[in-house]
Amino acid sequence: MKVSVDRSLCYGSAECAHRAPAVFAFEDGYGVVRPGAAEAAGEPGVREAIGEAAEKCPSQAIVLTE
Ligand code: SF4
Repeated sequence: MKVSVDRSLCYGSAECAHRAPAVFAFEDGYGVVRPGAAEAAGEPGVREAIGEAAEKCPSQAIVLTE
């Protein structure tokens, strides 16, 4: 799974960083994908947390691709 944040859509709610802190951080007012997040996505529970973060992102700024 590849995960990214479309910064043009993100308005900085920080919810992604709270829901999946192994994958997302909050920097300079935007949600960002942490370096190494692809490895973290393979850990138990993290993939589900990423999916939930994407689903609950209020601006639909999280992009998931297989
Ligand atoms: S949840 Fe969505 S809008 Fe909020 S910081 Fe993350 S990517 Fe941006």
